[in-house]
Amino acid sequence: MINTEASPSAAGEKLLDRYKGGVQHFIAGKFVGSNTGRQFETLNPATNQMLARVSEGGVDEIGEAAHAARRAFEKWSRVPVAERSRILRAIGDEILKRKEELAVLETLDTGKPIRDTLNVDVPRTAANFHFFADYIKFLSSETYSMDDQALNYTLYHPAGVAGIITPWNYPLLLSTWKIAPCLAFGNACIHKPAELSPLSAALVAEIIQQSELPAGTFNVVQGFGPNSAGQAISQNPNIDLISFTGEDSTGKAIMADAAPHLKKLSFEMGGKAPNVIFADADLDAALEGSLQAAYRHSGQVCLAGSRLFVERPIYQDFLRRFVESSMKIQPGDPMDPITTFGVLISKDHLDKVSGYVERARTDGATICCGGKRPPNLTEGNFYLPTVITDIDSKHAVCQEEIFGPVVTLLPFDTDEEVVAYANGTQYGLSGSIWTQNLSRAHKVAAAIRVGTMWVNCWQLRDYRVPLGGVKKSGIGREGGRHSMEFFTEVKNICIKL
Ligand code: NAD
Repeated sequence: MINTEASPSAAGEKLLDRYKGGVQHFIAGKFVGSNTGRQFETLNPATNQMLARVSEGGVDEIGEAAHAARRAFEKWSRVPVAERSRILRAIGDEILKRKEELAVLETLDTGKPIRDTLNVDVPRTAANFHFFADYIKFLSSETYSMDDQALNYTLYHPAGVAGIITPWNYPLLLSTWKIAPCLAFGNACIHKPAELSPLSAALVAEIIQQSELPAGTFNVVQGFGPNSAGQAISQNPNIDLISFTGEDSTGKAIMADAAPHLKKLSFEMGGKAPNVIFADADLDAALEGSLQAAYRHSGQVCLAGSRLFVERPIYQDFLRRFVESSMKIQPGDPMDPITTFGVLISKDHLDKVSGYVERARTDGATICCGGKRPPNLTEGNFYLPTVITDIDSKHAVCQEEIFGPVVTLLPFDTDEEVVAYANGTQYGLSGSIWTQNLSRAHKVAAAIRVGTMWVNCWQLRDYRVPLGGVKKSGIGREGGRHSMEFFTEVKNICIKL
């Protein structure tokens, strides 16, 4: 057992020792390297030093995993619900037992503060398994009576072999949000983790290897997207459905590759969430919530509240307080338990984020704070919390997903104006509004075109509710019954009376 409180960095070194020979795929219940022997490096974004070499999979490894999954599916799909539930619950329990190891690997690989991975990401990873282990025990289906002619009823059957393709920002949490329901509803799967954060997936595979889940039901193939393991999932005829989270441009590529096979698809993609502060809001709560929405995981969150709209009477005062609070945030070593603000995932991503800010600066915007790397942290991909004002709502920094600690603040005068601002991007994942006027809350929440609207809060999640987006933010919903609808095929049985 690793004790991160004693020394998270020492814990990290000890853990990485295990991956000295390289991180392998997990296929048919065994850890294996690539047929080609090819490997890639995963780096620590806080130092840009190599953490481990990782096997690079492709068409062959996805093919082997798909065969193994198909064989396993024939058995696992017939395992009684109570048994499936028990096995998944035990996996969740083991994740909690190995909380420290998972948190250390996740922090090393993503640069997310250890206090978050330990207290949020890993517990929620376990909760994904626990929730769906319970959920499947209480399912019902529909009946439709045709008077005295016939009775219809529905059955939900496992859908088959699923490809699960995930991004680097919440590797554990987002992958298990798909893996747990996939397995719970009787499917087999192949997980393709992001190439920038592949480590924790290997540890989840180790935990699952030691569980009672039959070999081949769950597989992990590491690698890249195009011309690599990701694309091989879309193109493999043995994979029936794909649940993907990532960028909308990747979603388009997956859809095109999957089209000849008519695969069932569920996409959770980017966002550019509006965060609307009305003058009648509880301003302390709105300030605290907006800071979280802007800077959690350095803004590398699809739900990040990156576009702040503040009602004009309180605009100047709110801006002053928001900037003051932003300037107090101290980036630090993600492995240090006191750090609350970590790093960006890669050098390339740092360049992308700073490029957006420089473009706004050149175009005459005011950079109220940040807009640069912290002077005391020259190694790693650190970037300061950044607030931009005096910018047109059609500018790229107000329209495109920056995925960094960068927010724009604009004043507004009427409900209609702010709804138009909120709806004025190609994204529609989520949004927040802060007001004490109940009637306005209902009306504005209904008028903004997103998959999730928070009122007087941000990122408050219930596992039963639908999660997903409209426009370029997604196709379909996951969570509770919505995950069931994706991971099953419903059949109607009509009995003539
Ligand atoms: P990405 O689309 O670049 O990569 C995501 C995954 O897709 C990776 O595993 C990658 O290897 C794979 N991939 C890339 N090209 C592929 C291809 N042609 N075929 C198959 N697979 C391919 O995304 P990212 O940069 O890792 O993650 C950031 C993005 O994810 C942001 O846009 C963010 O908003 C989004 N995101 C959305 C949600 C949500 O719930 N809506 C949650 C987290 C992140």
